Amino acid sequence: MSATVDAPAPAATPPPDLAAAPATPGPTATSPAGHAPRPRGARLLQGGPIATEIRASVAADIVELKEKLGFAPTLAIVLVGRDAPSAVYLQQILRSCRNAGIAGRLVEVADWVCPEHVRQVIEELNADPTVAGIIVQQPLPPEVPLRTVIDAIDPAKDIDGIHPTNAGLLSLGYDGFLPATAHAAIELLKRSGIEIAGKRAVVVGRSNIVGKPAALLLLREHATVTICHSKTPDLRRELKHADIVVVAIGKAAFVTGDMLRHDTVVIDVGINVVDDALVGDVDFESARRVVRAISPVPGGVGPVTNAILLTHLVRAARALRPLHEPVAKGETR
Ligand code: NAP
Repeated sequence: MSATVDAPAPAATPPPDLAAAPATPGPTATSPAGHAPRPRGARLLQGGPIATEIRASVAADIVELKEKLGFAPTLAIVLVGRDAPSAVYLQQILRSCRNAGIAGRLVEVADWVCPEHVRQVIEELNADPTVAGIIVQQPLPPEVPLRTVIDAIDPAKDIDGIHPTNAGLLSLGYDGFLPATAHAAIELLKRSGIEIAGKRAVVVGRSNIVGKPAALLLLREHATVTICHSKTPDLRRELKHADIVVVAIGKAAFVTGDMLRHDTVVIDVGINVVDDALVGDVDFESARRVVRAISPVPGGVGPVTNAILLTHLVRAARALRPLHEPVAKGETR
């Protein structure tokens, strides 16, 4: 069974993902050599202003695309089963779609259905001429193997870069759809003016959707990259050598200030709910007293991820066929 909720366009309310970012404490503090605390704290790498800029350019692109296509391109979000945190995240994406003039469509697939049914739902979206991009919310229920879903998505509509074709293109350094979160982490560094080329980067986490692609993107930007994971024997030692640290492990406040170096830039990808509050994988309070710069949670990578996803949607929508364009015999729209 699948239920479809179409989210129409207009409305211009500010997205909630920009709301809760802590205030920047002023100019970057300079700290003495070693690990002495920074009296004024680290520079905050705020994702909100970057996301706003990206979204404005997406909205302009969508106006042009609607004119060309004769319809608003759709971003379809497939939700298999119920997962409260991901449902909140999905509402944020739908709101971002509305604000940018994109048609957001939530396709809910009840969790007891067989994997074959999930596959069928995705194939219907692949064939829908108005659907430009498809994302499947993870984690999936245990009954649905991730591979069944990943393989079903048309790589041309795989705007979160999970299909093996797009993952392969990334690893070869060719152009494809990138996983949005990893892309956002690197974009946050670049747009904040952090130099990557020649730097030592440590990525903590090796998942296919965040850690691995983030490492490949840092490599593409000419960093020297180390990937750490749960079997890394001495994480602290690895972190102490890093100019840039990207943390994506899913453990609240796991990386603490004493594990970091005073001139390191930290990107915290983690999203964890502790006592009803969102916190990252880095212990923000201890880390900000030590490092040069850090992205807050919320308000760092999160808003940029949503905005980046929309840029991927725009790119996919450019390949759709306009409504008034005749369909040749034997071809599908
Ligand atoms: P995941 O699939 O669970 O992967 C976690 C990774 O962390 C694994 O590679 C694991 O190593 C590693 N790890 C676990 N414990 C470790 C430890 N003690 N030391 C070193 N490495 C450790 O998680 P994910 O999907 O990549 O997500 C990671 C975090 O990012 C989560 O908090 C998630 O909510 C967040 N996230 C944020 C966004 C966003 O837009 N900001 C988007 C997606 C995810 P092994 O491989 O050895 O098990």
